[in-house]
Amino acid sequence: MKIIDAHAHIGYIGGWADVGITEEGLIAQMDEYNIEKTALCNEDNDLTLSVMKRHPGRIIGCVYVNPLNQKTVDDMDKYIEAGFAAVKLNPLRHAYCADAEIIDAVMEKAKKYNIPVCIHSGHPPYSLPWQVGLLAERHPDVKLMMIHMGHGHGVYIDAAIKMALRYPNIYLEMSGMPMPSKIREAYERVGADRIMFGTDTPFHHPTVEMQKVITSGLDKDAQQKIFYENASKFFGE
Ligand SMILES: [Zn+2]
Repeated sequence: MKIIDAHAHIGYIGGWADVGITEEGLIAQMDEYNIEKTALCNEDNDLTLSVMKRHPGRIIGCVYVNPLNQKTVDDMDKYIEAGFAAVKLNPLRHAYCADAEIIDAVMEKAKKYNIPVCIHSGHPPYSLPWQVGLLAERHPDVKLMMIHMGHGHGVYIDAAIKMALRYPNIYLEMSGMPMPSKIREAYERVGADRIMFGTDTPFHHPTVEMQKVITSGLDKDAQQKIFYENASKFFGE
């Protein structure tokens, strides 16, 4: 089966997480688990760009933007013109609400370049699925990936599916979300092209994340959409 990892990091993430992976480690992991391409983000966009250049065709660049830091918003143009294919937002990390107006400038720029936005979900008070829904509602022309589709809490996972049902520009990514049955539910109820596979490396391991798709009860054609085709379309890669 062909695989695209729709969400991963490199570098060391300290504090409570205390996890990390090097560039070489990521590429070795991709080779070992047959991952053709990885959508990669790091707060140092120059690092992501250099990894993209060193591994042509393997890395989908996601430009990491903090809406509270205007320089990162201004720099979007530079990185998108250099080949980045998506935007990454993490309201939890940078302490803003996912429905905050301050994100609108980022969304407008994504619309101008016709690239999708990937946004972390699952943590109050910043990144709950309902807030992502309000953001999607204000920007119906921008494709918005709800990373972790609500994450670890059943009520948030249910809300992620409800928000995606309501807003056709919301796409769901399943890394860190523990329930295989919800992958199947998203595929069947939200849409066959709106749920995709990711690892959130180095937070989670590819084998564990893959098992959730494999045990979801979906057939091989559906799994291939989740593992590869949907992300390929979403990122235009
Ligand atoms: Zn992540």
